[in-house]
Amino acid sequence: MIDNLIFNVAQLLKDPVGATRTGDVAVELGHLTPDLKQAEDAPEAVLSGSVRLMRIDNGILAQGTLHAQVALPCARCLDPVSVPLDIELEEIFVPTINIVTGKSIAPEEEDQALWIDEKHILDLHEVLRQAVMLASPIHTLCQEDCRGLCATCGQNLNEGPCDCQPEPDPRWAALAALLSREPCEG
Ligand SMILES: [Zn+2]
Ligand SMILES: [Zn+2]
Repeated sequence: MIDNLIFNVAQLLKDPVGATRTGDVAVELGHLTPDLKQAEDAPEAVLSGSVRLMRIDNGILAQGTLHAQVALPCARCLDPVSVPLDIELEEIFVPTINIVTGKSIAPEEEDQALWIDEKHILDLHEVLRQAVMLASPIHTLCQEDCRGLCATCGQNLNEGPCDCQPEPDPRWAALAALLSREPCEG
C-alpha cells in the first residue's frame, strides 16, 4: 500500500529557524479518505506531490502541492467520472514536547491534527483527509443533462429509453391540462 505521510521531525526541530526538508509524498485515496465514495471498479486513485517542511519559530510549516485523479460515480447514472483533485497544503504543526528539555508543552493550537506527537512524529493524514473532502465535488455529473437511471428497470437512460415509461403523447398532455382547469360538476 502506498502511504508515506508520516515524518519524524526530531532533527528538524533541533535545526535553526529556516531549515527545510523536502520530500515526495503519496497515499492511496481509498485509505486516506474511506468516506469519499469512489466509482465501483475504478483503479486505485493515488494522491501524490511534494511537501516542504520548514522549521519556524513556533513549530514546523508544512507546504505542498498534491494532485489526484479520482473516479467518482455520477450522482444520477453512477457512471465513473474522472475528477481532478488539487490540494494546496499550508499548515503549521506545533510540538507537544520540548525537543531540548523533553518536557511537555500545552500547544496553543487546539486542532490535534496539527500536533507533532511526543515521539516527534508529524502526521499529514488528517489535514490531507480534510483537504481532500473539501476539494471533492459534492455533486458529480457525467454531463449536465445526464438522464440518469430508470427507477423501475435500472436502464441507463443516456443509452436510450427503456420500455417502462413510454413518453406521454403531447396531445393527451394538452387535454389533461384542459380537463384539470375545468373540472366536471356532478
Ligand atoms: Zn450520469
Ligand atoms: Zn425502465
